[in-house]
Amino acid sequence: MPYLSAENLVKRYGKVLAVDHVSFSVERGEMLGLLGPSGCGKTTTLRIIAGLTVPDEGRVLVEGEDITNAPPEKRGMGMVFQNYALWPHMTVYDNVAFPLRARGMPADEVQRRVKEALEIVRLYELKDRYPHQLSGGQQQRVALARALAVQPRVILLDEPLSNLDAKLREEMRFELKELQRKLGVTAVYVTHDQAEALALSDRIAVMKDGRIVQIGTPREIYEEPANAFVADFIGKINFLEGRIEEFLGEGYVLVRVGDGLYVKAYTKRVHEKAPVIVGVRPGYIELRGTRPEKVDESRVNVFEGVVVRKTYLGDVYDYRVRVSEGVTLRVEARENYDVGSKLYLVVPADRTLVIDKKTGWA
Ligand code: ATP
Repeated sequence: MPYLSAENLVKRYGKVLAVDHVSFSVERGEMLGLLGPSGCGKTTTLRIIAGLTVPDEGRVLVEGEDITNAPPEKRGMGMVFQNYALWPHMTVYDNVAFPLRARGMPADEVQRRVKEALEIVRLYELKDRYPHQLSGGQQQRVALARALAVQPRVILLDEPLSNLDAKLREEMRFELKELQRKLGVTAVYVTHDQAEALALSDRIAVMKDGRIVQIGTPREIYEEPANAFVADFIGKINFLEGRIEEFLGEGYVLVRVGDGLYVKAYTKRVHEKAPVIVGVRPGYIELRGTRPEKVDESRVNVFEGVVVRKTYLGDVYDYRVRVSEGVTLRVEARENYDVGSKLYLVVPADRTLVIDKKTGWA
C-alpha cells in the first residue's frame, strides 16, 4: 500500500481549472518531485495534500485512511513553503526549537535536534539572531530546519531553496536528499527547476495545465520523455520535423528531415510512415574534426556541418551547427572549434526520440 495517495484531485478557481484530475502515490520514504512551469498547479496540489486548500473533487489518503477533510494540524505533515513564516520575536534557535518544545520533548533531545537541523542548513552560528537580521535565503533555511527538526512522517516542500544562490542551492540539494533518506521521511517536493527535480527526486511527476503528463524516475523522464513538452521542459533538445521513410528493423527507422537529409532514429512504438519530430539532446551529439571511420551505419548518423554560432558555458561550448539548408543543430561539446569550422556530427540513433507529430506523444 502506498504511504500517501492523491486520487483524482480537482480544484477550480472560477473558470481556471488549477488542478485537473491529478492522481499519484508516494511510497514510504520516497521523495516525489512535482515539476512544471509556473501556473501548472503544483502549489495548489501541495496545498490540497497539506489541508490548506479543499479540493472540489478527489481524495487524499495516508496509509489508506481518507484525510481529505482532516485539518492541517491533524495530518502529521511538515511544510516548508515559499513564504517561510518565521516567528519574528523569536531567535533562529527558538524558531526551530518551539515546535519541539510544544510537543513536550525533553530538553536534551530538543537541543540535539535543533543543532543537527541548523548545522544541515549551515546556520548554527547565527542561532541567536532574529529573523529580521537574516537575508531571505537564510530565513528560508531556518524554515527548512524547523520543518526537518520535527521529523514529520510526511514533509511537503514548495520551492524551499528558491532564494538561495546557485552554489548553496546545489549543496543544500545534496544535504536535503541525504537527510530525507536518513530519516526515511516521505516527501513531496514542488519545483519548476528541472535540475533540482532530477537531483532530489526518487520519482518525478511532470505537470502541465493542471494535469500530470508523466510520472517516472529522473532517468526515465530525461531519457524516455513521454512527449515533446516533457522532453523540452526537462532539458535541452533539438527537434527536427520529418517523416518516417523506412523501417530499418529492431526499432530503427529512417526519417527524412530535410532536402536529402535523413536521420536514423530509434522508436519502441511502431509508427506509420507518418509525420514525426525527431528529438536529440545537444549533449548526446559528438563533434569530430575529421570524418569518423568504422561507424555502425545502421545505428549512427554522421552529418557534415559548419559552426555558425558558439557560446562559452564554462564546462562546455554551446554550438549551433548547420547541417543542411534550414537544419541547424545545437551541440554541447568540450572541444574548441571556431565559428566557420567544418565538422562532422555523430548522432547515435538509440539516443534519439521519435514523437508522433499529430499527437505530440513519443
Ligand atoms: P508557480 O510555480 O508559479 O507557483 P504553480 O504551478 O504552483 O505555479 P498554482 O499556484 O497551483 O501553480 O496555480 C495554478 C493555477 O491556479 C494558476 O492559473 C493560478 O493563477 C490559479 N490559482 C491559484 N490559486 C488561486 C486562487 N486562490 N484564486 C484564483 N486562482 C488561483
